[in-house]
Amino acid sequence: MPATPAWPPKSAPRLFVENELGSGRTIAVEGNQANYLARVMRVDEGDAVILCDDLTGEWAASVTQVDKRRVQLEVGQHLRLREPVPDFWLCPALLKKDRFDLVLEKATELGVARIAPVVTRRCVADKLNPERADTIVTEAAEQCARTALPEIAPVAKLDALLRDWPQDRHLFFADEDGGEPAADAFCYAEGPAALLVGPEGGFDDAERAAIRAHPASVAISLGPRILRGETAAIAGTAVWMAEAGDWLDEE
Ligand code: SAM
Repeated sequence: MPATPAWPPKSAPRLFVENELGSGRTIAVEGNQANYLARVMRVDEGDAVILCDDLTGEWAASVTQVDKRRVQLEVGQHLRLREPVPDFWLCPALLKKDRFDLVLEKATELGVARIAPVVTRRCVADKLNPERADTIVTEAAEQCARTALPEIAPVAKLDALLRDWPQDRHLFFADEDGGEPAADAFCYAEGPAALLVGPEGGFDDAERAAIRAHPASVAISLGPRILRGETAAIAGTAVWMAEAGDWLDEE
């Protein structure tokens, strides 16, 4: 007897939707999402789609109607609750657009809870297109099977970030001028954490002094080489996830 194929199939397309999901509800997607399902994934009536609402978790849905601009789905089985997200913020200085897009995508895949873009004196960019950033993190979350979207904070100037910093959160400061080895610093620090990473040109001396003087800050080193800003952000996040995040075995 051939085995009954799993439902929904692992290959089913995944989408985050605005509406709160629940068994038996009818959901319609339009615009880019409808185009993706109808034209790229070529779904047909009866096909499976995995839906997430960043609230109740992940649901299996089946296509009930397909038009070029609109796809209707019926929500069925609840598959997973919204996952717990490690309490880690990434505070990357704004970089050139394509490099910052990479940071947004990789930070999402790696599991960060919040991305807090920072503007420093040597930043080449000082704005972030919020819709574009939302699209990048949503697509990255769909691709890596997250059920929770990272929050994207409004762009903040470095002095405002330091002034408004929450007392209970560690502020790990990636400093190419040296600091504690990242893995050591991360595994001994309990509780909420964040990683601040500089722009292409690095922090200037006054900024470095202000960060190092902040009561929550701990300077960390990501090794002997000078990494690009996006590499430092991604590598630093990966080390934190391995040392203090959800890559650890559940004991
Ligand atoms: N200041 C450098 C310069 O003069 O070109 C380069 C800055 S580096 C391209 C961008 C940021 O990545 C730095 O501000 C720092 O936050 C981080 N970074 C790069 N290499 C690092 C390392 N080995 N250890 C810790 N942080 C590093």
